[in-house]
Amino acid sequence: MDPYRIFADIVAGRAPASKVYEDDDVFAFMDIRPFTPGHLLVIPKIPARSLAELDPAIGGKLFAVGQRLAAALRDSEVGADGVNFFLADGVTAGQEVFHVHLHVIPRTPGDGFGLRGRPTSPRRADLDYLAGSIRGALERGSAS
Ligand code: AMP
Repeated sequence: MDPYRIFADIVAGRAPASKVYEDDDVFAFMDIRPFTPGHLLVIPKIPARSLAELDPAIGGKLFAVGQRLAAALRDSEVGADGVNFFLADGVTAGQEVFHVHLHVIPRTPGDGFGLRGRPTSPRRADLDYLAGSIRGALERGSAS
């Protein structure tokens, strides 16, 4: 089974999955290597390798389904009392399957999940400088 196409195979029914939700555009299923019990993945049915390839309207649907799933994780036997969303875009960000997927990770006290990053304390001038650079990229149409 091609690891780069596994999610397309799941959507097409050619590979097994523990489905929790499906509509015309979005499919959600259990992660086979969950960080915590109930860890879900939400994917677009039409494959997009990266955020840059993803139709923003479908991206909005991924988030909306993620919101519903977060509520279900709290109300089901998973018993989550917190939820993390996580999306890895690119190898450097930790992406392993190149079909955009939103992780929906239920949290309970002491479950051991967490980001390893440490917050830094840049000067306001440095924040303003990068904010200006990012605004410039937006104005040049980076996200359109
Ligand atoms: P990422 O590192 O964000 O690309 O995460 C890929 C995720 O896909 C990992 O959490 C894997 O456990 C999960 N995964 C890979 N193959 C499958 C599969 N066949 N069914 C369910 N989850 C999968």
